[in-house]
Amino acid sequence: MDKTQNTGKSTKRLATARELQKIVAEFYLEGHEARKTGKPIGWMPPMNGLIEIFYAMDLQPVFPENWSPVCAAFGLIHKNYMTAESMGFSPDLCGYLRNCVGYINGIMGEEGVPLNGLPEPDMIFVPGAGCIPAMKNFQYIAKRFPEAKVFNADLPQVPIENIQRYHIDYAIDEIKRIIDFLTEVTGKKMDYDRLAAVVRLSDQSCALWDEITSYRRCIPTPISAAEVGLMFVMVTRQGTQLAVDYLTRVRDEVKQRAENKTGIIAEEKVRLFWDNIPLWYNLGLFNYFERYGGVVVAETYSAAWSIRLDTSNPLEALAMKSLQSYPMVSCVSMKRRKEMVLKACRDYHIDGVILHSNKSCLPITLGQMDIKRALEKELGVPSVVIEADHMDPANFSMSQFEDRAGAFMEMLLQRKGRS
Ligand code: SF4
Repeated sequence: MDKTQNTGKSTKRLATARELQKIVAEFYLEGHEARKTGKPIGWMPPMNGLIEIFYAMDLQPVFPENWSPVCAAFGLIHKNYMTAESMGFSPDLCGYLRNCVGYINGIMGEEGVPLNGLPEPDMIFVPGAGCIPAMKNFQYIAKRFPEAKVFNADLPQVPIENIQRYHIDYAIDEIKRIIDFLTEVTGKKMDYDRLAAVVRLSDQSCALWDEITSYRRCIPTPISAAEVGLMFVMVTRQGTQLAVDYLTRVRDEVKQRAENKTGIIAEEKVRLFWDNIPLWYNLGLFNYFERYGGVVVAETYSAAWSIRLDTSNPLEALAMKSLQSYPMVSCVSMKRRKEMVLKACRDYHIDGVILHSNKSCLPITLGQMDIKRALEKELGVPSVVIEADHMDPANFSMSQFEDRAGAFMEMLLQRKGRS
């Protein structure tokens, strides 16, 4: 057994994954260049149509929530949590919220912060949807930067299957209100031909993402959850040629591996599904299962980052995207979430499910017991609950994890006659 696989960074098998470090660094560098050159910067939550509007108007998007996994990877979260706690924020709150609040009130702007941290915002977009921590996070950000112009968004929160025409019309008005706000603050006008081109690129990225994930149905799978970092491109670069070009290279590599039947490990014995957000400070956990011949083939989280767009009607497409922007939180019913996990288990030929009971994300953890029962009753697929936290290593015990996960893997191997 390779004990080095217990913690920290994951072992990646894709050659294209090695390009990611450069892509991440360039994104943050671009933000600092924008600050120097006076290009307006907006801080925003991801996945709501804003990114396409920003790239179409040549503005600089920044995603503070996405900065949290980067802080986790660079070991900055402890300092940020200490700052947040000293301000009275309870350790029971969402790790993204605590990390962002701690960062902006602590080490932001200090020398030596990896990637130079985040550039200060000229505009802040406070979501009117999703979970309470997501909304509160941006409210605190707005308080910290009183000079920035604030857009308070408002969106109906309905399960995706219940979206009606009047919801779409309302969301289109919101998209127009955002464009008007940006014109007023920056003086820039929207070029609607450019917006159409950006929406096409965004949709192309999603199509490529769907194709890449579809190869994970192959046995053996050519790509595992250890490559989840690829998602960075889906979060920060949707609507750009860069995303399309990079994802095309990833798709080509994954396709080739699938055609050659090149798996993640020499002998794939057990196929696993991971529910909830990964542990950003310990992505190496995905490799842990490999010692038992197990591969994490699919997850709820990465599937949430692809929303196909109707490219013939860009404004409506972005409105629809905004209505679906919290596919695991407020835009989904319990029934639908259960169906999604069950469908993924069928499609990806899953033998066992890891239910990450996430201390700092209750919205996504909610309903896991129903999912557990349905998996057993409807599919006969066993699952195990692992208590952890997607952002806070203090809420994760490796020895407890090894006890539970190890016993679960032994049981799965026995069931398959592969022990
Ligand atoms: S969905 Fe979960 S992780 Fe995301 S902001 Fe809300 S509580 Fe935090």
